[in-house]
Amino acid sequence: MADKLSAVKGMNDIAPPHSATWEWLEQQVRTLMARYAYRNIRTPIVEPTALFVRGLGEVTDIVEKEMYSFEDKLNGEHLTLRPENTAGVVRAVAEHSLLYDGPKRLYYMGPMFRHERPQRGRYRQFHQIGAEALGFAGPDVDAELILLASALWQALGLKDVRLEINSLGQPAERRRHREQLVAYLERHADQLDEDARRRLHANPLRILDTKNPAMQSLVEGAPRLIDFLGEASLAHFDGLRAILDANGIAYTINPRLVRGLDYYNLSVFEFITGSLGAQGTICAGGRYDDLIAQIGGKPAPAVGWALGVERVLELVKEQGAEVPALAPDAYAIVPDARSMPLVLKTLQALRAAGCGVQMHAGGPDGLGSMKSQFKKADASGARFALIFGGDELAQGKVAVKSLRDGAGAQALQPLDDPRSWADALKLQSLA
Ligand code: ATP
Ligand code: MG
Repeated sequence: MADKLSAVKGMNDIAPPHSATWEWLEQQVRTLMARYAYRNIRTPIVEPTALFVRGLGEVTDIVEKEMYSFEDKLNGEHLTLRPENTAGVVRAVAEHSLLYDGPKRLYYMGPMFRHERPQRGRYRQFHQIGAEALGFAGPDVDAELILLASALWQALGLKDVRLEINSLGQPAERRRHREQLVAYLERHADQLDEDARRRLHANPLRILDTKNPAMQSLVEGAPRLIDFLGEASLAHFDGLRAILDANGIAYTINPRLVRGLDYYNLSVFEFITGSLGAQGTICAGGRYDDLIAQIGGKPAPAVGWALGVERVLELVKEQGAEVPALAPDAYAIVPDARSMPLVLKTLQALRAAGCGVQMHAGGPDGLGSMKSQFKKADASGARFALIFGGDELAQGKVAVKSLRDGAGAQALQPLDDPRSWADALKLQSLA
């Protein structure tokens, strides 16, 4: 036998029955996005490398060490598998002038790629669902996005999710804070770890979200960006808080929440759970008013979030709603292969009438005994078995047998008009 090939490390297959949970989550998201009038956008998985270098900032974890970048051998283009999708959405919005007729609310779902050390809740191909509101300047849309995420946690039955918010102000305010911050960190240079020393002049704000326990007391004593905000930035922050308060959305202000990417300003936020260990951030976002201009578009304010699907589903498994398993309404049992043409014709009509029907199909040894077919019918989760037995077929009928509620109850139905009894298969039991 040939050597077995396996998937790339840190990249997972999502197969049944587990994939049903993914579809269920996606369906909840589609329903909610429609309620908030967010529309779907699909952008390529591969983008020019320059998009991320310019968009995310050169001194960020992603651009420094996590991107799958390569040169297209056929034409020498520098390409990158998208590590996130805000930059791609913004590129698409700018490229097609999508804001020409007003602001847009958009959402996406799909795989992202980051070369990180694989562990629980951290993969090299992972999936994000994101919502972006472009062309809106006020804190009302920041709040709308947070309310949308909260509604999603509720729909998924998640209980242990807390919200942290902060404001990063505007570039000028950050510059003033940065001077003080760098001076403070330089005064304590002996306490900086290697990462922090490297970032001290390139991206000192990021030092504040260090996970190094040895630096916690140092960063706790650092100058707080929020103390450097001017009137307009504070008003934006207060506007957001007022809406969250009015909606009973609990949050804490975390002055050290800075987010990993350069493009954020004003509101930033994260939804965090204590139930997933170190990988506790399930959703993160904020405002990025300068990004569109930064990648060459007409300036427009914008705000968005992205959630990590794997982490959210892990949390659903631990504490969320019961995810309905997929099962057909009926399973077709076929004692004699010669009746297959009639069976498929009947099933086709039932499916056209909206029924989920699984056909019993043979393996290398034929269709198998009735007993083994009934076992498979049971295992499929179907509520009914359709028995295409010789006696029934001779009368122009099929037997419909209940496998769950009222198991054993049976009725004969006409083969010449499957539509007339299709609806009965959608019921819980034979009436
Ligand atoms: P972290 O601090 O955990 O590395 P991040 O700040 O890099 O997260 P974002 O870029 O904000 O993450 O992405 C939004 C969400 O996507 C995260 O909150 C997380 O739920 C999810 N996520 C990010 N990276 C991964 C990954 N490698 N594997 C699985 N999920 C991820
Ligand atoms: Mg990361």
